[in-house]
Amino acid sequence: MVKKGIPEKASLSKKNGTYELPAITKEILCPVCNEKGLKMTRTIYSLPDGDDVLIILLECNKCNYKKSDMVSMFNAFKPGEYVLTVDDGDFTHKIFRGARGDLEIPEIGMTIERGPAATFDFTNVEGILLKMKTQLEFFLRTTPTDTIEWQNANESLKSFNEAYSKQMAFKLILRDKEGGSYISPTNEEKMIFTAY
Ligand SMILES: [Zn+2]
Repeated sequence: MVKKGIPEKASLSKKNGTYELPAITKEILCPVCNEKGLKMTRTIYSLPDGDDVLIILLECNKCNYKKSDMVSMFNAFKPGEYVLTVDDGDFTHKIFRGARGDLEIPEIGMTIERGPAATFDFTNVEGILLKMKTQLEFFLRTTPTDTIEWQNANESLKSFNEAYSKQMAFKLILRDKEGGSYISPTNEEKMIFTAY
């Protein structure tokens, strides 16, 4: 199933009038103190205009880190592939990576895959780009310059700079087999969601 824009809200099953959210089975690490046991509360509110929103509240009782976010319920947590086209310099599309969400920007030739101890990640396109930049620069610093790997990474850095300076359009692809990730675009026209 290929669909332009955001996934259907109807993909979430309803029980006793409320949506059933996929259970969070993994221990969540706190992004600040790195301790296990971050508490995630998810609440769905129905707005007067008929839209439902999901409020996510993250709380760490070890370091008192607290963060909340609001997501349109059209962004159901379905397993699938989100392809976001970034061709207008807007880096503010929100991205939520679950523990199994892998990211790719083909134009830069880079992927960020999840490790076994991965935690969730709330960020936006700019946050992803900066993460890639850090990884590329680290790789270039620590790899011998006469290797093909260094050459490839150096090419990636050139493409990265074009993308980051908004001179090159690119696609951000988020794949999640377990359905714990989503992209909340500022403009629905820029995204295509394909369910697995
Ligand atoms: Zn903490």
